[in-house]
Amino acid sequence: MDCIFCNIVAGKFGTEILAQNEQAIAFRDINPLAKVHILVVPRKHSSTIAALTEEKELVGLFALVREVASKFTDGQFRLQFNSGEKEGQTVFHTHAHVLSGRAV
Ligand code: AMP
Ligand code: ZN
Repeated sequence: MDCIFCNIVAGKFGTEILAQNEQAIAFRDINPLAKVHILVVPRKHSSTIAALTEEKELVGLFALVREVASKFTDGQFRLQFNSGEKEGQTVFHTHAHVLSGRAV
């Protein structure tokens, strides 16, 4: 298994999990670009948000985004999905960036 986020989901790296539900997990980005920079990642592998079509998974992913935003930001945040290499995606396991606060 060479997908870095699949390995994090499997607990291989001991990454601190900030929040989770049946469909997704959330952890801090290793290279934060804002005061709060959290990744929300579906447990099940898919390459980009465009490839994630299952309703239950989408609902679970966005429910966790809302939970993370309410717990770790002041309610104001940006939500970003880099989708495709040209658009800056470097890890090809779907993930949402939750960004809030000044760049660090
Ligand atoms: P993207 O450019 O949208 O594919 O974002 C991938 C993000 O994953 C980058 O912001 C990286 O800093 C982050 N990242 C890569 N490896 C790890 C890791 N082991 N733990 C946490 N974040 C990571
Ligand atoms: Zn994966």
